[in-house]
Amino acid sequence: MHNDIDKILVNEQEIAQICQNLGKQITHDYQGKRPILVGLLKGCIPFMSDLSRHIGLYVDMEFMAVSSYHGGISTSGDVKIRKDLDISIADRDVLIVEDIVDTASTIMTIINLFRHRGAASVKVVTLLDKPGGRIHDFTPDYIGKTIPKAFVVGYGLDYDELYRNLPYVGVLKPKVYND
Ligand code: 5GP
Repeated sequence: MHNDIDKILVNEQEIAQICQNLGKQITHDYQGKRPILVGLLKGCIPFMSDLSRHIGLYVDMEFMAVSSYHGGISTSGDVKIRKDLDISIADRDVLIVEDIVDTASTIMTIINLFRHRGAASVKVVTLLDKPGGRIHDFTPDYIGKTIPKAFVVGYGLDYDELYRNLPYVGVLKPKVYND
């Protein structure tokens, strides 16, 4: 698996540092509150797990499954909800946990849905931000690292359901998706 990676963009030490820093900031900003962390499956899993352990507050942890990619490497812009939340978010502070924001279609759809459902506040924490891919004007509230417009895998991010278990984020060798 490691041989399929051309270049590491965010290594394990950097990811650990990002989770620590973001956790500290979130703990500070939500002091006295009980936010709901909403992870977007499946990409959020490693990040949600590591980040949440640096948040020193009472939190609820919920998951949603949405999809905008269909096994390829470019976005379709068509967002589908495959698994919805199990609890009401009315009057609650919601913090959406994303792996990466690219065009921002997914996140804008979810934010609008949560506002419509009456959340007290809706914020977004993303491990990676790819502002070069935007088709909507959107800036996440918390960003782990800003990266150039490239297709990345690892630490939750897949290519055709593989590479989610890489402990770092990297760029695939072009031959992997050209073959
Ligand atoms: P957006 O709606 O912002 O275009 O895309 C968000 C979703 O697309 C992410 O949650 C992720 O699932 C997928 N995505 C966007 N960029 C990448 C990428 O570089 N690599 C992978 N593996 N998935 C991506």
